[in-house]
Amino acid sequence: MVESCPDGKAHRVRAKLQESLSGGKVRCLACPRRCIIPEGMYGLCKSKVNVNGVLCEVNYGMVSSVAIDPVEKKPLFHFMPGSMTYSIGTVGCNLFCEHCQNWVISQSEPESFPHTSYLSPHEAVSEALRYGASSVAFTYNEPTIVSMEWVCETAELAKRMGLATISVTNGYWSEEARERLIPLIDAANVDVKAFEDYFYRRVAKAPFIKPVLDTVTALKSAGKHVELTYLIIPAYNDEEDEIRSFSKWVVSEVGSDTPVHFSRFFPHYKMRRVPPTPLEKIKRAVKIAREEGVRYVYAGNVPGDPSENTYCPKCGALLIRRYGFSVERCDLSEDNRCLKCGEPIPIVGRCTRSSGFPLLI
Ligand SMILES: [Zn+2]
Repeated sequence: MVESCPDGKAHRVRAKLQESLSGGKVRCLACPRRCIIPEGMYGLCKSKVNVNGVLCEVNYGMVSSVAIDPVEKKPLFHFMPGSMTYSIGTVGCNLFCEHCQNWVISQSEPESFPHTSYLSPHEAVSEALRYGASSVAFTYNEPTIVSMEWVCETAELAKRMGLATISVTNGYWSEEARERLIPLIDAANVDVKAFEDYFYRRVAKAPFIKPVLDTVTALKSAGKHVELTYLIIPAYNDEEDEIRSFSKWVVSEVGSDTPVHFSRFFPHYKMRRVPPTPLEKIKRAVKIAREEGVRYVYAGNVPGDPSENTYCPKCGALLIRRYGFSVERCDLSEDNRCLKCGEPIPIVGRCTRSSGFPLLI
């Protein structure tokens, strides 16, 4: 159960990951920034405030976006393909990416954002069940970090009610956050935004990439389903060497069966003047990753491209045909093997044809 904040204000709850310091200061342990926060002040993400020497999370249950999405939209292509996921976003983020596509919610201050409404963990799970979703996804901004108390309660309840839990995340988690969140999460899509510190420093305003990579390997070691997204931005992170190093890391540290999505960038937020990624660059990245031994490589944000489909890495047979976020055809055996050559395909749950369209509620 959550504990209320010493000031008794609505939607403020005590943050579990904190350390008291001298002089009434407190250290937030939610993300690798480990903000030291004096009394009355907020952490960098503005989602935690120091109230009389106690760190409180400010936006408990305040939700900005709710939708029933195809799980493919997260994107997760190997986790209950064709199912729907009850997707929830809050407000705020611990990264400050110049190209964020959800910047309206991620880069706003949680307490002053006007367009939120309260959703209790119980209401979230009941709604997910009522709409026939198979899972609950914490997505859009970075709920796992900025709304950690609410996410943990909701995820626990969701799991008890037989729903799977999904985190769509930047992976910029502290060790303490990993310990707390990973047991509650069944599947994650982690955004690996580049494969060097410089990009993180310049574009995401975080000093190091290492915590992101450590989150990926921690999820994997805990036996969780992991997929990775690498958004290719022209002239920022599209060098062949960088894509190759990233692909090598996937194969050696995460596993060649880990699905990787190379997504096409479209201009957003502070990168409105950067052009969309040429399709050729996406195709080249897909090719490089395959050359390096990644077995399931996908193109993202290019509806109709053959690289949206799943092919058997052994015989090349078409196993799952997709269009955008829709699963149009599943050609797998009951135990998820290639029908042609019998190769086992690492997919969690059964593949089903998509039955509906994304539903905004
Ligand atoms: Zn095959």
